[in-house]
Amino acid sequence: MERVIYLVDMQSFYASIEKVIQPQLEDKPVVVAGDPKQRSGIILAACPVAKTYGVKAAEPLWKARAKCSTLHVVKPRMGLYIDISMQITRILEKYSDLVEVYSIDEQFVDVTHTVHLFKNKYYMANAIHDEILDTLGIESRIGIGPTKVLAKMACDHFAKKHPSGMYELTQESVQTDLWPLPIGALFGVGRRMESHFVRMGLHTIGSLANHPLIWIKKRFGINGEVLFRFSHGIDPSPVTKRTHVKQKAIGHHMTLPKDYVEKEAILVVLRELAEEVARRARKQHYLGSGISLYIRGHDFERHDGFKRQIKLAHPTALSDDIFQAAKQLFLDSWHHQPVRAVSVTLTQLEEKTTRQLSLFDDSIKKEALADVIDNIKETYGAASIIRASSLTEAGQAKIRADKIGGHWK
Ligand SMILES: [Mg+2]
Repeated sequence: MERVIYLVDMQSFYASIEKVIQPQLEDKPVVVAGDPKQRSGIILAACPVAKTYGVKAAEPLWKARAKCSTLHVVKPRMGLYIDISMQITRILEKYSDLVEVYSIDEQFVDVTHTVHLFKNKYYMANAIHDEILDTLGIESRIGIGPTKVLAKMACDHFAKKHPSGMYELTQESVQTDLWPLPIGALFGVGRRMESHFVRMGLHTIGSLANHPLIWIKKRFGINGEVLFRFSHGIDPSPVTKRTHVKQKAIGHHMTLPKDYVEKEAILVVLRELAEEVARRARKQHYLGSGISLYIRGHDFERHDGFKRQIKLAHPTALSDDIFQAAKQLFLDSWHHQPVRAVSVTLTQLEEKTTRQLSLFDDSIKKEALADVIDNIKETYGAASIIRASSLTEAGQAKIRADKIGGHWK
């Protein structure tokens, strides 16, 4: 049975959120950007109005200001954006239980087994678009395809440019729609692979698709074979739930708005991830004795990330224990390469009641305190208590939960 997969992408995600929260900015050129004095003075998101001035994401702030003197610059609030991203996941989960969070503003939904509830797949996609818009005020674009790679490319190369914000790539349209595109447009082809292919005379996706596979394999191994398959729209990888961790592990992942290079900034993120993991473990009455850390660098092709694990002496659900372990793993393996994404996971879970009480540490007291904090957060919102370290620029946990409550119904 051919699958029906959507890739749902939010338009100018960060800037759109800011416009919903600050309606006075609605028709103004708005960008979300870091501190202009720092390396982070880079545009993370530009709203459609700013784009009409030629302002683009990833360009330095000074350049954007030169193009548009009336530019409104808003500082990023990652915690808030992550929170909205999670609300979008919850909306998508009404349409299918197979939702995979691909990045903060892109999620895959496999609707193969639920699409029959709607007139057709386009009506269903429209319903998703409208519900996100009505609930959160954010425009989305949807790529449709029988595989993840086709849904993704349908979105990136067509839906975003299409007035309807929607586009479908089928196995049949691969040849006419996809093959004429430059090789760099093929999902998975980074700048390095692009120059390799171009040097071989493979300028378009079609030229790769029609190149003998045996040569591609010889030159690039398994990676080349995967890209060759992508050029034909072939991608058997399933849409896998990434939001609800089945009780074997509790993890939290964060893709950063830019590459982080300072140790202190990365440690702030690690602490926030550890707190979120610990909070969820406590809420579900779990303790875990394994901690794993995953760091992804900025160059996916060069595999400059790493994954490390450690086993603790005692099972825990305390953020400080988790943080200290993650920090140790990080410092042991990090060689100052830029960091793009981080996850911290608590593994080897057990029910809290089965634990032997350790009377020789003060973990009972710490747990009692943690419970109090959890309760305050549940009652007054996640932003009611945050660590001082989260108030630094690197802090991602500045969740303006109460503010969202005030502006969204
Ligand atoms: Mg987007």
